[in-house]
Amino acid sequence: MSTEQNNQTGLVCPNCADGIGSVFYEVPSVPTHSVLLFDESDKAKAFQKGNITLAHCTSCDFIWNTQFDPHLEAYGAGYEATQAYSETFNTFHHKLAQHVIDRFGLKKKRVIEIGCGQGEFLSLLCDLGGNEGLGFDPAYDPSRADVERSTGASFVADFYSDAYQTEQADLFCCKMTLEHIPNTLSFMHGIRRAIGEKQNASLFFMIPNADYILDEKAFWDVYYEHCSYFTPAALRRLLSLAQFDVTDIYPVYDDQYLVAEADIAGEPTVAPSKQEPLSTHRIQSFRNTVAQFRDAWSNRLNAVANKKQKAVLWGGGSKAVSFLTTIETGASIEAAVDINPHKWNTFLPGTGHPVVGPDTLVALNPDLVIVMNPVYTDEIQSTLSERGLSPEVLPITHYMPSEEALAS
Ligand SMILES: [Zn+2]
Repeated sequence: MSTEQNNQTGLVCPNCADGIGSVFYEVPSVPTHSVLLFDESDKAKAFQKGNITLAHCTSCDFIWNTQFDPHLEAYGAGYEATQAYSETFNTFHHKLAQHVIDRFGLKKKRVIEIGCGQGEFLSLLCDLGGNEGLGFDPAYDPSRADVERSTGASFVADFYSDAYQTEQADLFCCKMTLEHIPNTLSFMHGIRRAIGEKQNASLFFMIPNADYILDEKAFWDVYYEHCSYFTPAALRRLLSLAQFDVTDIYPVYDDQYLVAEADIAGEPTVAPSKQEPLSTHRIQSFRNTVAQFRDAWSNRLNAVANKKQKAVLWGGGSKAVSFLTTIETGASIEAAVDINPHKWNTFLPGTGHPVVGPDTLVALNPDLVIVMNPVYTDEIQSTLSERGLSPEVLPITHYMPSEEALAS
């Protein structure tokens, strides 16, 4: 979409096609991909940039990047989004799969996963429930020998579409995908069409929870590939408009993700069966405090640089890229640490920081470790002590302005 078109039509909500968006947050010139792997720092720095301009729809509560250009996105080889190297995440994934199996009575059934990544979750659903699975993802790479895949699961390296309408399933699962889709309403209509008349099928959706991002002022969770951000109200409205009958919406994983369960509605659902409150006050609070939060980190990192100390980020994914390209870090950050060996000796898009493994930290001996996802703080503390390291460890949320500061 050209800038001119954007100015004229960009603010009509793509989630409900009804409300108008008002802009509340902007980050210029960020890398359009934060999980691509670069083997040279200069190439990583030179990678293409785009702008983030977040707008909020006061009709359905949806948040989207009005400057998102899907032509700048290219999923495929070199795209590394798996979290499967973390024990904390694996435990969560395992529990989530068991929950889905119990919730939907998924034993000896058939599951289609839309946007299955490398197939870890679908494999869990197959193995834990004796199910058969079919996964769709254009970034699926059959040569990945490090991913344990179930023999009950098969995969198609393609987008799920009408072309696969004949594929039957008892459950359609779509996890961590909708946030990458710019026109969410037309996308969901497409999924609804592809599912067709399968009356006994249920749906399970999981996405990042926009209310969590707003409450935690989590500016590091805003990045270019995530063009769409859902609150419970926005997700409910979308699924209802696409003729799904929402049965439940709830947060999981310390509120970081949002889950929706739905059935296929026989008749068009005109109005949502239940109203979720809009997040308008959260938007206000985010807008009022995020600059203060960003400045607090910049000040701390400038102090680190001035004292000739060294800081590292723990987590070499999207959160790290967003953090580094949103705030002024000066020369304080040496590297990003990641436990995924596929990322070692690569460089982060945007700033070109190296990604290293935990063992490299012994030589680096950092003074400060910034934990990009506070959920992993315990896991990281023990990894550090096992290597005889005792840096200051701060979760990314550490400098969030206090309630008193918010009020003044
Ligand atoms: Zn809307």
